[in-house]
Amino acid sequence: MKRYALITGASRGIGRAIAIELAKDGCSILLNYKSNHAAAEEAKHLIEEAGGEAELMPFDVSQPDAINAALDKWFAAHPDDYIDVLVNNAGIVDDEIMLMMEPEQWHRVIDVNLNSFFYCTRRVIEGMVMNHHGRVVNISSISGQAGFPGQINYAASKSAIIGATKSLAKELAPKRITVNAVAPGVIYSDMQREGIARGIKDRTDEIPMHRMGKPEEVAYLVSFLCSNRADYISGQVIGINGAVL
Ligand code: NAP
Repeated sequence: MKRYALITGASRGIGRAIAIELAKDGCSILLNYKSNHAAAEEAKHLIEEAGGEAELMPFDVSQPDAINAALDKWFAAHPDDYIDVLVNNAGIVDDEIMLMMEPEQWHRVIDVNLNSFFYCTRRVIEGMVMNHHGRVVNISSISGQAGFPGQINYAASKSAIIGATKSLAKELAPKRITVNAVAPGVIYSDMQREGIARGIKDRTDEIPMHRMGKPEEVAYLVSFLCSNRADYISGQVIGINGAVL
């Protein structure tokens, strides 16, 4: 039986690296993204080059109707399968100091980074519960652990994910489903590149290891958490940040 893994925001950056790593581990990848078809096709190609398989599953993670439509279609085509691995990775920033932040900026970041967790996970864990096995990994952030000026919306979404992770881990533990959060520090992806291009200070000099992390380094950790070697690890927040915190 194939082991299916849904990774949200897998067309680029950390999500793409996670998709490639889980494919190498033998998972059949459901590759979600929002709108960058070219990047998603490229990610699919890289997975296939690595000997894995992937199908594209575009939807906006902040839109429950779109999520349900995509998953309804998939479940109808796979009546005997379920999704054993869910990585809630899709995320955005929209930085602004509190005094200047518009309500839309607050709501958009909460919708994409936090409400998406509820919509996607609520739907996917049904199959895990029925099958008494599963892995949920939520990509939080060091910003959700330590806070960061200009990121009240982002930090709120990422620390809320930590509370939700811990609660859901307790709910699902009897069903042999683990739920963990990974909290990256500064990882070199489009999110960082775009920030630097917008004039946000490159803070590499504040990282004790004097470098940004690589998306692959986050992927190795997620791969471990999704493996059977991590059966007894649940409800944890694992930082990957070059010793910043
Ligand atoms: P990224 O390079 O900007 O890639 C974002 C990915 O999310 C893309 O695949 C994008 O799809 C997808 N996405 C964005 N909005 C979406 C939506 N509404 N619905 C579905 N997919 C959506 O980001 P990243 O740096 O890899 O970050 C990945 C995760 O790690 C995020 O949750 C982020 O908060 C977290 N994180 C990142 C860092 C860092 O330093 N990079 C640090 C801590 C935590 P399209 O290609 O279609 O736009």
